[in-house]
Amino acid sequence: MGLIDRWLRRKPSPSPQEPISEAQAVPATWANSPTHIAILERFLSVRDTKGGVPDFWGPVLGIHPERVVNGMLALGLLEPVSLPEKVEFCHTGAELKKMLSLRGLKVSGKKAEQTRRLIEADPDGMEKLCAQRKLARCTPSARQVVLEWQAKQAEFFDKATDEVISALDARQFKAAINIADVYRKSMFHPPVHPAQDAMTIKSAPRPIQERAADLAAVFTMRPKILNGLTPEQWDGLYLSYAVWQLLGRAAPDKCMPGFTGIGAMDSATVLRMLSFYIGYQRDLAQWRELGIKKGTILCCNSGSCDACMALDKKRNSLDKLPELPYKDCTCALGCRCYVSPELGI
Ligand SMILES: [Zn+2]
Repeated sequence: MGLIDRWLRRKPSPSPQEPISEAQAVPATWANSPTHIAILERFLSVRDTKGGVPDFWGPVLGIHPERVVNGMLALGLLEPVSLPEKVEFCHTGAELKKMLSLRGLKVSGKKAEQTRRLIEADPDGMEKLCAQRKLARCTPSARQVVLEWQAKQAEFFDKATDEVISALDARQFKAAINIADVYRKSMFHPPVHPAQDAMTIKSAPRPIQERAADLAAVFTMRPKILNGLTPEQWDGLYLSYAVWQLLGRAAPDKCMPGFTGIGAMDSATVLRMLSFYIGYQRDLAQWRELGIKKGTILCCNSGSCDACMALDKKRNSLDKLPELPYKDCTCALGCRCYVSPELGI
């Protein structure tokens, strides 16, 4: 074949303006793309195809998210939902009742029954009512891919947790931080809203020595409100807190197996009280640095215990204020007092 022939038979190269088909809006490698799987994950339950994936996912996808969703429909990764499901999804129980009574139909029954009655009596009307809404969900095969991906993510977390715990058990804080950093970097992070992103304080990463020192300090803290803990429970609690902070998710079953809490507080509340104490200690240090000398305890929560209520509006120098969370608190939700700092003038 001569050069001219080849030139005449050449495949036209797509110009950037050339419209791509909806199916082409999804890359062939979608099953290896966490962003695309995360889109499918959103459709594990029924969702609108329009706006079902926020616009700000666009820059990551390189194309408007709605086109990707339509592409997934075209490729059979998503499927449109049936009319009964559509009617059920688009209306509240009260709306269904109103539509039934307007048509002189029996009002009672479950949502599915009510919907069936409405469609039997007025199929065209129901079709018209939901015509504007385009709803979809994962097809079984796409669902399978999403579930396998989720299982793999859980496995990664599991492995990272085990490694972090064994490093912390050996009090190797730097090693624990490094393992967690690698894990968090490898994880999928869904796009965030630009406004939220702008509000996030992007401080320079702190040196690992400092982070390790902070973490080591946690393992020596003894908030008085948790005085009833046994040594093993203290240890488990520190681990719980560290895993939660380092990996972004708590793993209570691994850190404190069998622990159900102390007094009126369940295990999650106990963990929150340690976190409260650590945060309060950090605040105190900052206030002192700023020259703040006094503060007032505020306890304006309805249902707080008598011990906490008695602290309300107590004003004193920072050193003389009782430790928070308050040791005598008996609230099931834990102590919710806080200190309003004031400038020492
Ligand atoms: Zn209380």
